Amino acid sequence: MINLSRPIRIAGGDGPPRYPVKEALGKLRGLLYHGHKVECSCCGQEFALFLFSPYQAALCPNCLSFERYRLLCRYLRDETDFGEREMKVLDIAPIWAFQEFCRSFDNVSYLSIDIESPMAMSHMDIRSLDLPDDTFDVVICYHVIEHIDDEPKALSELRRVMKPGAFAVIQVPIYVEKTIERKDLTSWQAKRILVYDGHLRAHGPEHYRELLESAGFEVEVNSLVKTLSKEDIKRYGLDRTEDLYICRK
Ligand SMILES: [Zn+2]
Repeated sequence: MINLSRPIRIAGGDGPPRYPVKEALGKLRGLLYHGHKVECSCCGQEFALFLFSPYQAALCPNCLSFERYRLLCRYLRDETDFGEREMKVLDIAPIWAFQEFCRSFDNVSYLSIDIESPMAMSHMDIRSLDLPDDTFDVVICYHVIEHIDDEPKALSELRRVMKPGAFAVIQVPIYVEKTIERKDLTSWQAKRILVYDGHLRAHGPEHYRELLESAGFEVEVNSLVKTLSKEDIKRYGLDRTEDLYICRK
């Protein structure tokens, strides 16, 4: 089990890895895309436009955040007390943009885990977390659950390591009305509907909410993005269809 008495604060000490080359390239792209038309909610910087790539949608030139992480950072900043008190954050399947967002808060202690990603500070299986009960104030789990065979076990593990009163943001891609399992599809259908080889299912919104509730969470479906103007959605490079699944213990 990870020794949580050692510092997991990311400002110095045993924090997550720094990436000087990524940081330098981010600064360089920031200069190339200099401007004030768009703004990244993760790193807080302004640019003339976002970057595009064939696999991700609009990327921040500096921190490479994409739509769903910019909405997450905006939600954490505007609608929670994130970083306003001492808090421990557990990030499953980390990306650099969100790790650096956490680094910008002095009050945030951060731990990232993954089954294999070299970016993660520790490697473990989400179905059996090597972490103590009632530890984290915030858990972030983006686009992981749909890859896991035993979803209820993974969700109950996430809930177990959360402090009472803590919240998690647990997102999956939602683009079908009703949940569809890979095992019920032909390989042709699976390619068309599930898109990625690692996706074991596509979740429908109602079933997904029930799944989270059956793990013991109190679930709020947050529609922050739908309250923003068209101009803001464009300026901050957000996906106007995305709801956030806020799961409280
Ligand atoms: Zn950014």
